[in-house]
Amino acid sequence: MLILTCPCCHVTAEETEFHGGGEAHLKRIGPGGSEEDFERYLFMRENPKGVHLERWRHVYGCGKWFHMARDTATLEVFGSYPAQTLAPPDHILEAIRKRHPDWQWQRAS
Ligand SMILES: [Zn+2]
Repeated sequence: MLILTCPCCHVTAEETEFHGGGEAHLKRIGPGGSEEDFERYLFMRENPKGVHLERWRHVYGCGKWFHMARDTATLEVFGSYPAQTLAPPDHILEAIRKRHPDWQWQRAS
């Protein structure tokens, strides 16, 4: 069972109170973007067995979107943080690297 904590209202609850919204930190492609970049934005998603940064919504609570880092294989949650954050905060990265020392965020460049 997945237990999540909403970083907006600080409620900790079972997964059924939330709804997953896919990969976090997607970069939108503007009107000047290439067709390849737009295709990548629309269709290409990370699907790792391991650490994943995801969007979640607290549907049966405050209703707000947030980001969460978790391990898709073990269901370990490394932490959640506001959806307005453009990159995972340092305390989330530290929590991930305690378990996965070699993990690198692919969009970290
Ligand atoms: Zn909430």
